[in-house]
Amino acid sequence: MNYNVAVISGDGIGPEVVAEAKKVLDKVADKFGHKFNYEHILMGGASIDVHGVPLTDEAIESAKAADAVLMGSIGGNTSTSPWYQLPPEKRPEAGLLKLRKSLNLFANLRPAYLYEELKEACPLRNDIIGSGFDMMIMRELTGGLYFGERQTKEIDGVMTAVDTLTYNENEIRRVAVRGFDIAMKRRKKVTSVDKANVLDSSRLWRKIVEDVAKDYPEVSYEHMLVDNCAMQLVKNPGQFDVILTENMFGDILSDEASMVTGSIGMLSSASLNETKFGLYEPSGGSAPDIAGKGIANPIATILSAAMMLRYSFDLDKEADAVEAAVKQVLKDNYRTIDIMPQADKDKIKVTQVGTSQMGDLICDRI
Ligand code: NAD
Repeated sequence: MNYNVAVISGDGIGPEVVAEAKKVLDKVADKFGHKFNYEHILMGGASIDVHGVPLTDEAIESAKAADAVLMGSIGGNTSTSPWYQLPPEKRPEAGLLKLRKSLNLFANLRPAYLYEELKEACPLRNDIIGSGFDMMIMRELTGGLYFGERQTKEIDGVMTAVDTLTYNENEIRRVAVRGFDIAMKRRKKVTSVDKANVLDSSRLWRKIVEDVAKDYPEVSYEHMLVDNCAMQLVKNPGQFDVILTENMFGDILSDEASMVTGSIGMLSSASLNETKFGLYEPSGGSAPDIAGKGIANPIATILSAAMMLRYSFDLDKEADAVEAAVKQVLKDNYRTIDIMPQADKDKIKVTQVGTSQMGDLICDRI
């Protein structure tokens, strides 16, 4: 099959890690008889330098015309880069917010997977880690508290701030459907997280999730209060498959979940809309401190490309092959600098490699 991928290399380490993800996609194409056509789009600092704005309308149209978008990270050093002398709406991050909005990306997916070989980076005790964990946090991205009406005013001489948390049933249903769809491709379990003992928006969330669950008889589901979920993530992370939740709870829980896996250089992510379309990017930033040195870990971006294969193109076998190759490379004891073992250095013989070599090693194992 032929697939059109819009590619945003971005800033900092973005172009370095995206080059490796493309290398891996081309290996997949070769091996499985597909073709990926790439159209490069400028966004962030790279677009400011050429067009004076972080995202042009033409770039948005190109992204919309593609089957999916693969992205590095955007932005520069926020203290020293001239991009941050510009007004907020002209800065690199404004391009990403505009793109997410234009593409109506309402569902954010962040996997938290513990690699056996990187266990040492996990701050949890061995008896809690058990046989490891493999979960997916599905966070609603365009509603809730972050998008509700807000104001700060003085009432009777007292400064008072108000934020509103609004969800309508359609917003809940569409993300719940995406969550159950994802569960069908995994271990078929959904934990829907809310605060239904207090919030009306959570009670509606629960009702709609129950309704959606009726269409997925193979998927088992449960409700969990957000405070309990925060505890369970560090008490028994192995119990989770898909965690489905609203915007603010997801913001906090996804950071907690990623923290227990270790390195930022391993964390992929996806943002999806109602169709098969998605934007795939590493969870970390553009790491200006190591840009241009050839040492960035490309695995987060490579795993984001694997998510693109699975969720936008339904190429599950191909995605499995990429994920297995990443596991194998770790098993063969190759590491980029960020995931080099800190302790027990002498016990495990690991080889430190650069960005491009890591990409090559993964390709060799596909
Ligand atoms: P960062 O994630 O870029 O870096 C934090 C630390 O993690 C740094 O020490 C960096 O070297 C390291 N790191 C990150 N990715 C790595 C990788 N793949 N391999 C090895 N090490 C890696 O966060 P920051 O320094 O706070 O932000 C830098 C810039 O990135 C800012 O302009 C910020 O706004 C932007 N940013 C962009 C996105 C995005 O594009 N979605 C997300 C977060 C931050």
